[in-house]
Amino acid sequence: MFSDPTAAPGPLRPMARHLDRPTPVEALARLRAGNARFASGAGHPGAVPRGGAHRGPFAVVVGCIDARVPVETVFGQRAGAICVVRSAGHVLDRAVLGSVEFAVTDLQVSLVVVLGHDDCRAVAAAREAVRTGRRPAGARQYLIDQIVPAVPAGGSLDRATRSHTVRTVATLRQAGHLQEALAARRLDVAGAIYRLESGHVEML
Ligand SMILES: [Zn+2]
Repeated sequence: MFSDPTAAPGPLRPMARHLDRPTPVEALARLRAGNARFASGAGHPGAVPRGGAHRGPFAVVVGCIDARVPVETVFGQRAGAICVVRSAGHVLDRAVLGSVEFAVTDLQVSLVVVLGHDDCRAVAAAREAVRTGRRPAGARQYLIDQIVPAVPAGGSLDRATRSHTVRTVATLRQAGHLQEALAARRLDVAGAIYRLESGHVEML
């Protein structure tokens, strides 16, 4: 059964939204608990009641577009609980980074999670580009070019995915507009890998 120890009963008051923010540690615990429910087959907590969420989101997840990784579902979160930004291979560009900054500064989320996953076709395409020296055409070239620097020579796809996820976390940690919240420990940035077979999210 879904339960949330920080849930605020009663009607939303304007200031309550700010007082209700979980710490980064609490936010991560919510996501881990939600993933444990999902991986155990306990099901999804369902949609938000009509009329909208009574609380703002507590985390933002940067994930891949892969249809096998429905982010709210694998973290066991109901609609309204987390923000999700997706691009192939969870590549950061200015729009993705701006979306993360928006979630942190305007929506006051406590946690950013970069979610890689098994069998990522975007990371596989970057490995192929490294192996062959050929780059794909069109805007895909931009995506692959962002992943290639993280791909270790001769390593496995899993190693490349981990490396790319860790590098994405490091890039976010350097983002100028997140520095104040990070320094004040109101925010943390974490990396994770979603395992397709087990349904578990493995924190890095
Ligand atoms: Zn992917």
